[in-house]
Amino acid sequence: MTRTCWIPAYVALGSNLDDPCAQIERAFQALSDMQGARLVMRSSLYRSPPFGRVAQPDFINAVAGMLTTIPAREFLAELKSIEQRLGRALPAVRWGPRSIDLDLLVHGTTRLVEPGLTVPHAGIAERAFVLAPLAEIAPDLDVPGLGRVSALAAGVPSSGLARIAA
Ligand code: ADP
Ligand code: MG
Repeated sequence: MTRTCWIPAYVALGSNLDDPCAQIERAFQALSDMQGARLVMRSSLYRSPPFGRVAQPDFINAVAGMLTTIPAREFLAELKSIEQRLGRALPAVRWGPRSIDLDLLVHGTTRLVEPGLTVPHAGIAERAFVLAPLAEIAPDLDVPGLGRVSALAAGVPSSGLARIAA
């Protein structure tokens, strides 16, 4: 008998180019069409000032709550292929402007650090633009190695971050 195990996975969506709200909508649509995964919850959209030193437009961010049968590495490969399909130009400057960025935040209880993939995502604990939308859809989620989302969200300053749409 084939057993299928559905693992909760959370994905961060971000865009600050080419009509960012529309880019986020397209990315949610692509996630809902993904093979081996179901889009279960989507957060509101948030506007945040850019990260790092590159002068660039504000970002629109959101988080998707999914269930998936796909292991973390393949799941990230799928996210990258969606980024390409949606037209993300390469190479992107680190923390620079991008039409769409999809990051795998959490994948069940997976904890791994390997070239090209760190799960849970390395930036979660410092990023209000990730923690605010994540806390909206999964406040009680235990991020492996880091703890409860609501506690993490309470620990980061969220000045400049605005919820703009449901
Ligand atoms: P950013 O750090 O701004 O998201 P990129 O999207 O260009 O920048 O990603 C940089 C690299 O981060 C990618 O090559 C990807 O392999 C790696 N990476 C490591 N862990 C993750 C993860 N959990 N989710 C997404 N990308 C990751
Ligand atoms: Mg990324």
